Amino acid sequence: MSSGDGSVTDLFIIGGGINGCGIARDAAGRGLSVVVAEMNDLASATSSASTKLFHGGLRYLEYFEFRLVREALIEREILLEAMPHISWPMRFILPYHKDMRFESDTPTSNLLGIFMPWMRGKRPAWLIRLGLFIYDNMGGRKILPATKTLSLHSTPEGEPLQDRFEQAFEYSDCWVEDSRLVVLNARDAKARGASILTRTKVLSAARESAGWRIETQNIENGKKETFRARMLVNAGGPWVGDIIQSKIRLNSREGVRLVRGSHIVTRKLFDHGKCYFLQGTDGRIIFAIPYQTDFTLIGTTDAEHDDPTQPPVCTPEEQAYLIDFANRYFKQDITEEDIVWTYSGVRPLYDDGASSATAATRDYTLKVDAEGGAPVLNVFGGKITTYRRLAETALEKISEHLSVSSGPWTAGVPLPGGDFPVDQVDRQIEDLKKSYPFLTDFWAHRLIRAYGTEAHGILGEATSAADLGRDFGATLTEAEVNWLISHEFAHTAEDILWRRSKLGLRLTQAESDVLNEWISARHQSGSGREKARRTI
Ligand SMILES: Cc1cc2nc3c(=O)[nH]c(=O)nc-3n(C[C@H](O)[C@H](O)[C@H](O)COP(=O)(O)OP(=O)(O)OC[C@H]3O[C@@H](n4cnc5c(N)ncnc54)[C@H](O)[C@@H]3O)c2cc1C
Repeated sequence: MSSGDGSVTDLFIIGGGINGCGIARDAAGRGLSVVVAEMNDLASATSSASTKLFHGGLRYLEYFEFRLVREALIEREILLEAMPHISWPMRFILPYHKDMRFESDTPTSNLLGIFMPWMRGKRPAWLIRLGLFIYDNMGGRKILPATKTLSLHSTPEGEPLQDRFEQAFEYSDCWVEDSRLVVLNARDAKARGASILTRTKVLSAARESAGWRIETQNIENGKKETFRARMLVNAGGPWVGDIIQSKIRLNSREGVRLVRGSHIVTRKLFDHGKCYFLQGTDGRIIFAIPYQTDFTLIGTTDAEHDDPTQPPVCTPEEQAYLIDFANRYFKQDITEEDIVWTYSGVRPLYDDGASSATAATRDYTLKVDAEGGAPVLNVFGGKITTYRRLAETALEKISEHLSVSSGPWTAGVPLPGGDFPVDQVDRQIEDLKKSYPFLTDFWAHRLIRAYGTEAHGILGEATSAADLGRDFGATLTEAEVNWLISHEFAHTAEDILWRRSKLGLRLTQAESDVLNEWISARHQSGSGREKARRTI
């Protein structure tokens, strides 16, 4: 594929986030030759920094984003069935208080203001119930249970909340392990023939007679390569505009709006598996979500973030905002001391000229530029939830320029390890424990939730924990690390601790350092072979 072998690939995709990897999987499955170049690790940017919900986006109804909400609602169950290991249904508790007032400039509140001026600044209970009725019925729900009302004074869900909240609505959406979603799409794309190149930055792409000439550089060893492709996909997320301007040098008027969103993680704030949907006085909403068994995830914020080269961080102001927000709901105040981790990502939204970051559309826009000869598809916006539909729409556009012999195929097709029914997770965990009696509950649960049916392949013929090689802490063993390096494109301890898993929340700094050193030594010894004993 490099200039040396002279071959021309059909599709060259810039960006190994969910959109690049989703398009790669779909395209490879339709017989196209595909190369993905990701400048860092897969999902190293926005696609590991989301709130991790497969959701319709209840709040988008207030903005009349019916197309997006309907598509996302339908997708939830299609995705759930294709990945019952990394995604699961979740119930959301929306506490309600009649005196709540909001700063709000949504189309819905403006409409309400015209017809019922006395309702200005309010989201009445009947309006929320109407929204949830639409939410329940717009997306052809089969697996997820419907909305119900809840008395907070007589249910465990009400216990952590301040007494002034008496009533709540409870509705359904789904959780997804976002960075694992990306890597599983990349793996499936590879299994269908795609080349996935990580740590490979696209320096430039130029049109030439038969297509594109793309220059890349490996960010670890500096090696440069040249690729040729018939069509280019720019799935650079926050860098989509930068790629248009400085890498491809297109004369495009399309713009991207970069909006940072940050989260804080605390020790577990409540003892049940449901999530809270909290409304703020500024009209925004945040979630408080049970996270990684022992933690609570709280987010997100909306802040303009103009420069994609500036790594996003959760600022002290954002931390204070999230703490204050949560403290208006929970009995037990949280403080900065309770924060164990923060993360931040940048939404690459299509610039629709909206007045505020919160109001900017979350829908995706795909634009093909073929004016100067060979075509390029630029991807703007999108949600994790709509990545599969975005890929299908991308393939429709691609097929106008390349010969694509088959149609859409990804709906319901399992991702690696997801080949079991949605309601059989507990059974999978039990079966794994039967096959490997030395596993603790936490360990078996973690392995099934990460790898599904592939967990057996990682454990191989082990009959004791010692058979899995070195123990790096928190149930991470040499066998699993070897698997992640050889099967899941992991290169560093950070890839493993913060994207392939979230074991970074549990390992001490000293344990992480040991893992880092062990991986460096493995790379230096040039060993590509599995080292763990008696594994596959
Ligand atoms: C705070 C927050 C919360 C969110 N919550 C949700 C949610 O709950 N549910 C939901 O559905 N969606 C959510 N989203 C939206 C979702 O996360 C994004 O829409 C999605 O991850 C964007 O994916 P992407 O592939 O376009 O971008 P990215 O994941 O950023 O991928 C782009 C990739 O391109 C690479 N790249 C850039 N330039 C180059 C180059 N020159 N060469 C090679 N590689 C390059 C980057 O390194 C990057 O990895 C959230 C977003 C944010 C920020």
